[in-house]
Amino acid sequence: MEPRVHLRNCLLIFITLIFASLLVYFSQNVHMYWLLYAIPLLIAAGAYGVYGTLAVGGASVGLVVYWALQGFYPGTIAQSPVNLREEILLGMGTLLVATFILGYLSDKGRKQRAMLERLSVHDGLTGLYNYGYFVGTLRDEIKRAERYETPLSFIMIDIDHFKEYNDIFGHEKGNKVLKKIAQVLVKGVREIDTVARYGGEEFAIVLPSVEKVKAVQVAERLREKVATLEFEGDKDHPVVKKTISAGVASYPKNAKSDTELVVVADQALYLAKGGGRNRVCGYEAAKRT
Ligand code: GH3
Ligand code: MG
Ligand code: MG
Repeated sequence: MEPRVHLRNCLLIFITLIFASLLVYFSQNVHMYWLLYAIPLLIAAGAYGVYGTLAVGGASVGLVVYWALQGFYPGTIAQSPVNLREEILLGMGTLLVATFILGYLSDKGRKQRAMLERLSVHDGLTGLYNYGYFVGTLRDEIKRAERYETPLSFIMIDIDHFKEYNDIFGHEKGNKVLKKIAQVLVKGVREIDTVARYGGEEFAIVLPSVEKVKAVQVAERLREKVATLEFEGDKDHPVVKKTISAGVASYPKNAKSDTELVVVADQALYLAKGGGRNRVCGYEAAKRT
């Protein structure tokens, strides 16, 4: 939860608790007025789930019992048929159970929302960001780079001869290769860089504030690291090596927009493939050849 929302919720709970208590205090009457404690309780259940209900419920019960012990009930109560103890026990009990259930449901809803949020921006197989998230990030980062006049680099990666690996060893093992390479890519870059699964066996990396020379070095390091990995094969080939090729381009040197940056990086990647694979090509190199 955002700190501002958190602060707002806590303030609301606190203010409504005080409000209920002041009304009871000035009316010198807890009979029926205890219902006012439903307001902070409902806010706590919605915002903080079961734990919120327990905390605010405890405080409310404590306060209501305190008011009752102070004798805060109508003077006529002795003659009226209202049994305050029963009213409070039954009423507060029902309220607590109801808000507890609400808190539980709100917890469940929050967990489901978090899961959906995660699924909507992450790729299910590799755990990397998905294509949609990548597109938005690249667009935003380009805008930021433009505003602050900083460079931005982009690396497009493709696994070499991956179809062949799938055909020989099967898609299941192919999926394990994708996962392992994805982990290496994430570990090999900074936290502020965005690593995404661009397509089937293609990965995209956005490196804010990085010049192309440096980005080519990063891509080269990733390529070297992947080349050292050992993947599952079969009886005849127990250990299989895989390589990647990468194309690198930078904003604003090689492209003026996000879409153009992807196109030129793809062209550089195409060149890396044509040059024999297991290599990194910067966009200038692509133009020279
Ligand atoms: P190149 O070196 O030219 O990139 O050759 P390649 O065989 O890697 O390229 P190609 O585009 O012909 O094949 C890509 C293959 O990636 C096809 C498909 O079998 C495999 N692939 C794509 N997505 C997945 C996936 O989610 N899981 C697995 N196991 N394989 C995938
Ligand atoms: Mg491909
Ligand atoms: Mg490939």
